[in-house]
Amino acid sequence: MKTLEGIAASPGIAIGDAFQFQAADLRFERRRVDDPAAEWRRFEAAAATAAEQLAEVCDRATAELGPEQAAIFQAHLMMLEDPELRVAVQTAIEEQGLNAEAALSDAAAFYAEALEALDDEYLRARAADVRDITGRVLGILLGREAQAGPQAPAIILARDLTPSDTVLLDKSRVLGFCTAEGGPTSHTAILARALGLPAVVGVGEEVLAVPAGVTVVLDGAAGRLVVQPDEPELCACRERMAAATALQAEAQRRAMEPAVTCDGHRVEVVANIGSVRDAQAAVQAGAEGVGLLRSEFLYLERSSLPSEEEQYRAYRDILEAMGGRPVILRTLDAGADKEIAYLGMPHEQNPALGVRAIRLCLARAELFRAQLRAALRAAAGHNLKVMFPMVATAGELRAARAALDAAREELAAEGVPLPERLEVGIMVEVPAAALMADRLAREVDFFSIGTNDLSQYTMAADRTNAQVAALANALQPAVLRLVARVIDAAHAEGKWVGMCGELAGEPLAIPILLGLGLDEFSMNPPAIPMAKQLIRSLEVAAARQVARAALELNSAEEVAALVRARVPGV
Ligand code: PEP
Ligand code: MG
Repeated sequence: MKTLEGIAASPGIAIGDAFQFQAADLRFERRRVDDPAAEWRRFEAAAATAAEQLAEVCDRATAELGPEQAAIFQAHLMMLEDPELRVAVQTAIEEQGLNAEAALSDAAAFYAEALEALDDEYLRARAADVRDITGRVLGILLGREAQAGPQAPAIILARDLTPSDTVLLDKSRVLGFCTAEGGPTSHTAILARALGLPAVVGVGEEVLAVPAGVTVVLDGAAGRLVVQPDEPELCACRERMAAATALQAEAQRRAMEPAVTCDGHRVEVVANIGSVRDAQAAVQAGAEGVGLLRSEFLYLERSSLPSEEEQYRAYRDILEAMGGRPVILRTLDAGADKEIAYLGMPHEQNPALGVRAIRLCLARAELFRAQLRAALRAAAGHNLKVMFPMVATAGELRAARAALDAAREELAAEGVPLPERLEVGIMVEVPAAALMADRLAREVDFFSIGTNDLSQYTMAADRTNAQVAALANALQPAVLRLVARVIDAAHAEGKWVGMCGELAGEPLAIPILLGLGLDEFSMNPPAIPMAKQLIRSLEVAAARQVARAALELNSAEEVAALVRARVPGV
């Protein structure tokens, strides 16, 4: 028995045979060709075949994973059709007489390296996409395809998996993924989470030496791969899997019931969504509403601003899909990791600390006005609330409210139906807002704590940088102390507090948050049934003790250990 440690990328446990996934051998000979025109035609034919394959992968990804994940492959299609890339390949073939393989590989390497040199984490990660699409065309040119997946259910071990490798594998024969390379935001990790399969990434070269066919245990939550487990290890795993399956089944069965602790305290469990499809998934998962509608979904993947009318219809469709349940619309949170090219935002040295979110909306009055008008129109006859992201000062909150009031007055003058009252809140995701929560609480109807940003700003640790992931962990006592402060400040003013950062759906955090008095937990729809089930097993008095103890600890690891010791089954 041997245990390999890696990064926990997607939770769940699997026991099965190891399957070593071999990417296609893409080595080629660099040579001069006699007939460059024919070579260019050969490249064009391969690119056309790749485009056909990609269209198929895209359809499959849409069906299995939804349009958001499928967007990766649409981006690949665009890269494949990129005129600059094509001109570079054509020039190398026609002017230097290179073979198509060498011409493509040079041009792609140039692009991938240029992307890798950029400051922006998101664009850097696109280098992997350039390699994926190049690999596909090279495979076609060379007549070599990636090895087919396993014939029977198995745990896939690989150096790294491209998005298309992951999508093309027959999921009925995949029990989980374990890769030598990759971080928590790699495509393998994202797709595994979307598929609900366990995954461990960044294990190192050793995973490639695991003989095919031996039994392995993959623990996605602990980030471990156990090779040739002994009988006691296997027994323990089977027990944990059986208990998890039973718990999951019970959680699914009771998904539509409210989350009431065993001593009778009810909290709201709602969803983070970004589309109508998500809204439908949220209702099916038992969401009691939407705690965070990320309105960026309307602004991304396009080349110009959505009109007021388009926004109004999109919000109304989501409100209708939620069937009368409350929906909190977050106004545009553009900038930093959510870059929108057509907004023409000037280059900033530190975009996460720059003109983003509410700062941008206040600077672009017309853009903000259209969104606020659309939200107010959609709110008539529905249960819509509005919240502003990244508020740091009372001045920003007042300016945002003034813009909302102005939009309301305009619409009233136009005779447009409006909601009688619209609750207004802010996201607390900047430490300044958390520290001033007692003042801000007087001017809002509610707070929603955004721990994803609150942790990065509190800990000075970039949320997109895997190297500082342990620091950016929202279980850090420093972050929890701010959370406690925000909840107390709001309650002192009679206001309610939600949380829409990832922490709210994290089983290790739920007992603490309950103990701190959080009123509303907002999370990705798939996490809802289990979160509700966990809350049902907790008692508020005991949760308060855990929370108090957590605030006195020194590290996120100590907090996690405390919860594991005090709360069975997390
Ligand atoms: C957050 O920062 O916690 C949050 C929910 O917002 P986003 O992840 O969209 O920045
Ligand atoms: Mg945020």
